[in-house]
Amino acid sequence: MSGNEALMGVYNRAPLEVDRGEGVWLHATDGRVYLDCVSGIATNALGHCHPRLVAALKDQAEKLWHVSNIFRIPAQEQLAHKLTQASFADVAFFANSGTEAIECAIKTARRYHAARGDGHRIDVIGFAGSFHGRTYAAVNASGNAAYLDGFGPRLPGYVQIDLDDEAALVAAIAAPTAAAVLVEPVQGEGGARALSPEWLLRLKDMCRKAGVLVIHDEVQCGMGRTGRLFAHQWAPGAEPDIMAIAKAMGGGFPIGACLATRDAASGMVVGSHGTTFGGNPLAMAVGLAAFDLLADPTLLDHARQMGERFMSGLGKLVVAFGDIALDVRGKGLLIGVKLAVNNREMMATARDHGLLVAGGGDNCIRLLPPLIITDKEVDEALDRLATAFAATRRRLAQAA
Ligand SMILES: *Cc1c(COP(=O)(O)O)cnc(C)c1O
Repeated sequence: MSGNEALMGVYNRAPLEVDRGEGVWLHATDGRVYLDCVSGIATNALGHCHPRLVAALKDQAEKLWHVSNIFRIPAQEQLAHKLTQASFADVAFFANSGTEAIECAIKTARRYHAARGDGHRIDVIGFAGSFHGRTYAAVNASGNAAYLDGFGPRLPGYVQIDLDDEAALVAAIAAPTAAAVLVEPVQGEGGARALSPEWLLRLKDMCRKAGVLVIHDEVQCGMGRTGRLFAHQWAPGAEPDIMAIAKAMGGGFPIGACLATRDAASGMVVGSHGTTFGGNPLAMAVGLAAFDLLADPTLLDHARQMGERFMSGLGKLVVAFGDIALDVRGKGLLIGVKLAVNNREMMATARDHGLLVAGGGDNCIRLLPPLIITDKEVDEALDRLATAFAATRRRLAQAA
């Protein structure tokens, strides 16, 4: 162990030290090279060290890193303009992470009601298997017991519902205390579960009738991951009132944002929220460069095609390795494979075969490659996964 004792022991870290990255490839300090289908958990969407992002970062680093939000920041205004032009939203607030974007989304929703004299409307309705980050509000919103345990009493005003329990959802939305429904259009950590357009449309309709806001958590599924700039764009008409985005926004530079309609953000006035670092010039320079690349229809088209290539290859693997893999789910390049064997062990086996994959709920492994992955690299990832499945099958046969 080298220095681990000086770190708070909150992570279960794999024994892998990365020295440098290039595109979809990671070079470890021991010389081994890995095909990266983790991408910093859906963050390095443009691959590692994309030349345009490197140039934007270097240029800005020599001009200006940081000024306070008490001054105008032109690049922030530009990125807000681009994001709102490309979405349902009218306004943006910039943060440094996904969980901060969620925090802002929840505060925006509650303040919307408070500003209209409905301060009793505080309930944030979330779903089992969701993940919204690790701030106190975010863990209360997801309701995951493992993330709440030992952190004192649960906060009031958070409700969780099973995604399949429509009756409970209807009741929660009808409650006089309901403020907003918070949902990931494609659940990430929960195991790449994509909600149908019909489900999202029904939710939107129910919420609109009840005066309840819809918040989409697109921290993982947004910014091109599903082959559309935002995942809910697969469901025209299902646009939320508020949306949190982050992960891929800066291609690895920490940026988050809360987007909202002008109406939904009507309670967010001077003094009601703020941040020191959020939206600083360095982050915005990278964010602008990343946005132009990620919003390019050619790249989104490519991501869709690579997603289909993966899905069809994985479908064949599930048939060939029915004892190892059970099914394939997800959307675009947010892909989950539900396993019949332990997913943590499979992550290690895949790593031994030069392929990095993420874990996920429901005993899934998740494949979240950079959106720039090529045909050849998709096929290489599928080959490596097939090899890992075969090795697992051999190991199980030997153990039997
Ligand atoms: C990662 C994630 C978050 C939290 O983002 P952080 O940057 O880790 O705070 C929130 N929601 C979803 C859906 C995520 O995948």
